[in-house]
Amino acid sequence: MDKDKKIAQRLKEVELKIKKVIHSGKKPSKGLLAEKDYYEKGNCKPECVNPGCSNDVAWREKKYWSMKSECSRCMSARKKNKLIEGVTIWKKKYCENIDGRHGFKCPVDGSEWDHYSESLDLNHKDGNHDNNIPKNVETLCKLCHGRHSREDGEWNSNKDSRRNIE
Ligand SMILES: [Zn+2]
Ligand SMILES: [Zn+2]
Repeated sequence: MDKDKKIAQRLKEVELKIKKVIHSGKKPSKGLLAEKDYYEKGNCKPECVNPGCSNDVAWREKKYWSMKSECSRCMSARKKNKLIEGVTIWKKKYCENIDGRHGFKCPVDGSEWDHYSESLDLNHKDGNHDNNIPKNVETLCKLCHGRHSREDGEWNSNKDSRRNIE
């Protein structure tokens, strides 16, 4: 689908949701309004990073237009260790900096830590979250992600730095 068409469709969907809420006598949530604002300003969510999946990525925090790198379907399947036919889950079960690719060694031994998998983030190598193609996305543990982001200057120079953590 072309971008403008997709934005128009998403805007229509969110407007319909808002209408329904108002119709039921309630106020639309801030999240819904933020979503509307997002599409109204001509933005379009990128597709899920997982090869074989073309869903829109899931919202992380609508207030900041912050998004995950996966769609909600893939995220929940991954957490439940379920397979989706035709879809490859891109997020690894380990920190990819285990090979020292960012110039320092990953300090975490995943085998000694029960919550290791919860500590894994998806990092966009070029810092651009809209560039959600698999080759631009790697799995890093929070320690490596934080240090890499600091050393890379993202935290200081990029106002959207909060978007680098997911
Ligand atoms: Zn997906
Ligand atoms: Zn690491």
